[in-house]
Amino acid sequence: MDQAALILLNFNAVSLYDKITNNLKQHFNLNSRTIIPDIDLRKFYSEERDQYYSTKLIEYALLNYSEFKKILMITDFDLYVPVLTFVFGEAQLNGKAAIVSAHRLYPEFYGLPPNDELFISRLIKEINHELGHTYGLRHCFNFECVMHSSSNVDEIDIKSENFCNKCLEKLNLF
Ligand SMILES: [Zn+2]
Ligand SMILES: [Zn+2]
Repeated sequence: MDQAALILLNFNAVSLYDKITNNLKQHFNLNSRTIIPDIDLRKFYSEERDQYYSTKLIEYALLNYSEFKKILMITDFDLYVPVLTFVFGEAQLNGKAAIVSAHRLYPEFYGLPPNDELFISRLIKEINHELGHTYGLRHCFNFECVMHSSSNVDEIDIKSENFCNKCLEKLNLF
């Protein structure tokens, strides 16, 4: 089994670690080591936007955790890239590193009551989606496939946490 770094950057849903690591085993055959990084956040933060720059966080992860086969960063921070208002996550296509933001996956973000089940299902979908990119998968037209692109949580809720057969075939080549 390949080894992944699971980097928790200001991620507070501690009770969900087991579900996340089990998911990495099940879908990607990855064993994960949990790491809480000691990191100076100022260089990733935009005061103007009150968000963190995901591309720079990916660069940081690559520099510091290159010994791992895959690097997955999870954070409660809201993420951005300059051309977009926000991103749920970002990944290197056919690369090593991915980052997922839980910020906009909490029902509370939309003024709704907390719902752990809904939250974890959204998080798992975003993790599978971004890691899927690191295995070379691009966006999929099948709207139930986890590789379908989502620009809001409703679109995340429609899709499943699984890969469609076409995507799965490509994933299994690894
Ligand atoms: Zn994507
Ligand atoms: Zn697909």
